[in-house]
Amino acid sequence: MTATTPGLVCAHHHLYSALARGMPAPPKVATSFQEILEQVWWRLDAALDLEMIRWSAMLGALEALENGTTAIVDHHESPNAIEGSLDVIAEACAEVGVRSVVAYGITDRHGPDGARRGLAENERFLRAGGRGLVGIHAAFTCSDASLRAAAGLAADLGVGVHVHVAEGVGDIAAPARLGDLTRDDWLLAHCVHLPTNHTLRGTILHNPMSNLNNAVGYANPARFTNRVALGTDGIGGNVLEAFRLAYVLQRSVDVTCGPGTAWSWLETGWDLVPEAREDTVEWSYDPMDPWHVAFTPGIRPLRVTAGGEVVLEDGRPTRVDADEVRAKAREQAARLHARL
Ligand SMILES: [Zn+2]
Repeated sequence: MTATTPGLVCAHHHLYSALARGMPAPPKVATSFQEILEQVWWRLDAALDLEMIRWSAMLGALEALENGTTAIVDHHESPNAIEGSLDVIAEACAEVGVRSVVAYGITDRHGPDGARRGLAENERFLRAGGRGLVGIHAAFTCSDASLRAAAGLAADLGVGVHVHVAEGVGDIAAPARLGDLTRDDWLLAHCVHLPTNHTLRGTILHNPMSNLNNAVGYANPARFTNRVALGTDGIGGNVLEAFRLAYVLQRSVDVTCGPGTAWSWLETGWDLVPEAREDTVEWSYDPMDPWHVAFTPGIRPLRVTAGGEVVLEDGRPTRVDADEVRAKAREQAARLHARL
């Protein structure tokens, strides 16, 4: 028995983190979210070059496709390989047969020139016709001038902004600093520490596994009036898994809730990337309704079409050799880990 759905949308991903697995332990055990950023992610992103970014994106796109995800909303940072990075990611996703909506997350962590170059990469990619958004890392690593510049560029180009908001307690000033800038087409990742009565406009991106892993707390997105969508924050591309976790986490604070709310968050992905509605995923299980999916781990896609083309058949990608992608990604991971 099989059932078919549209292609799933991962509304918040970091394809560059696909090579992090197996990286050497940081010099010191991170004891807070800020230290996780400093000792893991900000060391890793600074070591990336375009070849590593390419194979990281190939691996991440492959793993997404293998889980029925045909569209990835990616948020990228590579401070020592900024120029051209968005093309590399978009091309890798296209090669595998997955749609992408990319953004370069600007930051002043490397000085105002770093933010300027990040913004220029967003502008260059978008003006050339690329599918993307303007990226901001987060308010707490950006000056007010950088936040205004990113918001202004996005408005000029008619696209939204993809930004982390109040993921940890170090970013609780975000709503005050972003309040006047946000619009309905902004994507607000995490919002764990965002007050319920905030005034930010945009879609909130809930990343249950990442929030648990970073011990930042539970966003409880059902409390917001904003639209909510589901992401992985770089921990793979399995949106059904994000849905299952989102459901049981909501259940942990409200035993009366059913899986319908978390399922509606999964469906929001199709509002963000409407093209994915045209894609089809034939699943190993029937029916694909919220109650069944919530309690059936291991459901997998058998056949996926994207843009009318079969991109996964019998669980195997048709456009790339999965073994080769994994082998190349391992080589690049070894190069990356040697730099840390
Ligand atoms: Zn993120």
